[in-house]
Amino acid sequence: MKISDVKVHVMQAELKEPFGFSQWWFHKRSAMIVEVITDEGLVGWGEAYGPPEATGAIVEKLYKPLVVGKDPFQAGVIWEELYNRFRDYGQKGVMIAALSGLDIALWDLMGKALGVPVYRLLGGAFRNEVSAYATGLYLKQRDNVPKELAHEAECHVKAGFKAMKMKIGYGYERDVVYVKAVRDAIGPGVELMVDANHAYDASSAIRVGRGIEPFEIGWFEEPVPPEDIQGYIEVKDALSIPIAGGECEYTRFGFRELLSKRAVDIVQPDTCSAGGLSECKKIAAMASAWGVRYLPHVWGSGVALAANLHLIATIPPASMSANPIEPIFEYDTTENPFRTELLLEPIIPQNGSLKIPQGPGLGIDVDRKALSRYSCK
Ligand SMILES: [Mg+2]
Repeated sequence: MKISDVKVHVMQAELKEPFGFSQWWFHKRSAMIVEVITDEGLVGWGEAYGPPEATGAIVEKLYKPLVVGKDPFQAGVIWEELYNRFRDYGQKGVMIAALSGLDIALWDLMGKALGVPVYRLLGGAFRNEVSAYATGLYLKQRDNVPKELAHEAECHVKAGFKAMKMKIGYGYERDVVYVKAVRDAIGPGVELMVDANHAYDASSAIRVGRGIEPFEIGWFEEPVPPEDIQGYIEVKDALSIPIAGGECEYTRFGFRELLSKRAVDIVQPDTCSAGGLSECKKIAAMASAWGVRYLPHVWGSGVALAANLHLIATIPPASMSANPIEPIFEYDTTENPFRTELLLEPIIPQNGSLKIPQGPGLGIDVDRKALSRYSCK
């Protein structure tokens, strides 16, 4: 079996209602879907995180000419060859995100060719379903933010979620008020995590962390910029809240420092950006060796959801014991037609859990009508 063509689908959709966080406001959603076609007629799907025009061009102009004619079962070799060919220009960022999208499509192809789910090729599943937490609680252009956040949090509980993550990073006073509003709304029995999206320096993050410590926070995500490893260490040393990060880091080389310096308690590579399934399986092994929990960052279409579900199925519990700490899956609840419309059978949580897809490859069917409806090219 040989790769005969690679297509990219750059997609965009305007949002009905914009939403904001500590860095900017979202007015539209976008996605870049990779389609790899073989001479035997099989099609594999992947997704790249980040600016779709850039990742789409990288796959189409730089990677495609080097992979057409190759065997998709050489996925690990293809990864190393492409990384090495362009490492002078892109050890991080869109080059690696584009490589991730291509790599995921090759794993989908391998699974389809053999008639087995991707998680079996990755070493087998510890679980057939995984608890999900609701990512949401962004800013909306409405009055009375604490009341709006409390209402949304109650909706997530009603929908069956037993854990959720809210945005912070708006300054000490607002952060404490917003976190208190959400904790008061959901009560003590629901897990609550916070994400500052690297809005702070270390001393500000420590002050905010101390202000929200009384509200039983599951983890404090991206307190400081991803480049500031020492800042992560200072925040982690100062707070009792577990510290999470890694959605802006790439490849085993990038995660080496974060892990070896024990800068985080929880590492969060994004499969669609950190290097795809080939690389994230290696990063997960490194995290295990350093005693750091691995919980993927997930943000994208149904293709991204499926790829991350196959990977999380293969992540061992944080402690192998009678009462193991199981991984928990990030489920974005904000408006995203690519999550809800791109797959013929969308991946939707039931009672706060997601099933690992069981079909061959990623176990998904892409709806070509939705693909063309939102495609820019
Ligand atoms: Mg985050």
